[in-house]
Amino acid sequence: RGVCSLITTLIVHLFLYHFTTSTTKLFIDGKFVESKSPEWLDIHNPATNEVIGRVPKATHEEMLAAVDSCSRVYHTWSETSILARQQIFLRYQQLIKDNIKELAKLITLEQGKTLADAEGDVFRGLQVVEHTCSITSLMLGETLPSITKDMDTYTYRMPIGVCAGITPFNFPAMIPLWMFPMGMVCGNTYLLKPSERVPGCALMLAKLLQDAGAPDGTLNIIHGQHNAVNFICDHPAIKAISFVGSNQAGEYIYERGSKNGKRVQSNMGAKNHGVVMPDANKENTLNQLVGAAFGAAGQRCMALSTAILVGEARNWLPELVERANGLRVNAGDQPGADVGPLISPQAKERVNSLIQSGVDEGAKVLLDGRNVKVKGYENGNFVGPTIVSNVTPDMKCYKEEIFGPVLVVLEADSLDDAIKIVNKNPYGNGTAIFTTNGAAARKYTHEVDVGQIGVNVPIPVPLPMFSFTGSRASFRGDTNFYGKQGIQFYTQIKTVTSQWKAEDATLKSPAVTMPT
Ligand code: NAD
Repeated sequence: RGVCSLITTLIVHLFLYHFTTSTTKLFIDGKFVESKSPEWLDIHNPATNEVIGRVPKATHEEMLAAVDSCSRVYHTWSETSILARQQIFLRYQQLIKDNIKELAKLITLEQGKTLADAEGDVFRGLQVVEHTCSITSLMLGETLPSITKDMDTYTYRMPIGVCAGITPFNFPAMIPLWMFPMGMVCGNTYLLKPSERVPGCALMLAKLLQDAGAPDGTLNIIHGQHNAVNFICDHPAIKAISFVGSNQAGEYIYERGSKNGKRVQSNMGAKNHGVVMPDANKENTLNQLVGAAFGAAGQRCMALSTAILVGEARNWLPELVERANGLRVNAGDQPGADVGPLISPQAKERVNSLIQSGVDEGAKVLLDGRNVKVKGYENGNFVGPTIVSNVTPDMKCYKEEIFGPVLVVLEADSLDDAIKIVNKNPYGNGTAIFTTNGAAARKYTHEVDVGQIGVNVPIPVPLPMFSFTGSRASFRGDTNFYGKQGIQFYTQIKTVTSQWKAEDATLKSPAVTMPT
């Protein structure tokens, strides 16, 4: 295994080199192929804005070839023994572990987040792959013997066909790994369209999956933007779509895909509130809040982007500012970096204008990261940690998802008032309460209408034995990502009712009434 692992690592190094010096390939029928598209997009390093590669908008013929490959292989793959599929994913999780550093380097190069955070990105996806290795238990059906005399009923969980995933830029490893391993281990074949801004990581993950033994055509990867998305929503062979990204895209994909009779699960934007009670452990709470607001430069759907300071906790603001001010803004691959760049100059401009909208509407900027300068990276998309206080729910900087290193701070007189604010916000992705009072924590978890709640845990993303359960405007669909719900999403139930009589079972006359 040592030699195999070394060879794979060498290949991945070559892949990394190749990726950064040339064009992004499509992955069709087990081959990394150059697109014939006349339309290409530049990929930038967010820390410098240098062009580091180009990604094609796949042609219609290429997208058709990818789906045809998925369809062709589906019949053999879905009939492959579940133990054989399990073995592939057991090997896959090991290969991801062996190559976590290389994957993280590529994520930092394309996406900008710090290397340590990029490893976390891979690790949280790896946990889903590890979970898929329990498929022999997860896919169990149900049985009920002796429904009537000599008659038993049992269910099978069956795959559904070709499934597709459309992913955002902010987690180049974790989010694709929420999707294709779950879909494939259930016996489906998979078409992935990664974010055109960070397409390299998905290809490296595909290479490792191929090395783990996944047959050609079980995973295909296309690139592009709207055309590719519309193609996925419309192609009749695709039975289910998993989407993660903004509300604008997610609502559209949910509607277009559903209209075409597909299952769609759509995880979207957020505005996550951290409610700070005056009895909370101050040291712990302030550190958690700062880490969860500014980590990954705030480009996480579970970033704690809004603080509600209850009662006397409002006096903690100066210390909150001091801690945020201590974070180091730098390129993600530089030692000691805490906050990396935003994904693009447009994202930086948008974040800066939302900060300004707060000022214009009467909020106070207690810490202003808009003019941060990073030595040696003057062209990067950096915004330093920013804290905006005196914010009210009618302000634009509160209503819109900022998706940058900006913490907006509201105040409330009581826990009831804080709960009212959170429940009035349309999003329901995540929230956290910081308190040492069990009764307050219990009240909060029961009354707040949000899908994922942390009690003294700032980013309560569930591990994959549970599911990712964002709610309200943060989610469209019936079954969530990964965990038991993920298995439900990627399978359908077949119910068998059988009768085996020991004595002669021959009917003497036709049975024309409904069997009871
Ligand atoms: P995005 O919606 O711009 O892009 C996501 C995907 O959709 C990409 O593959 C892109 O090519 C495609 N796309 C973009 N605009 C489209 C459109 N108008 N029509 C059809 N397809 C389109 O999202 P992003 O900027 O890459 O990611 C950031 C967003 O994702 C944030 O809103 C964040 O909260 C959200 N997000 C949510 C979760 C979650 O689990 N709830 C996780 C991560 C990110």
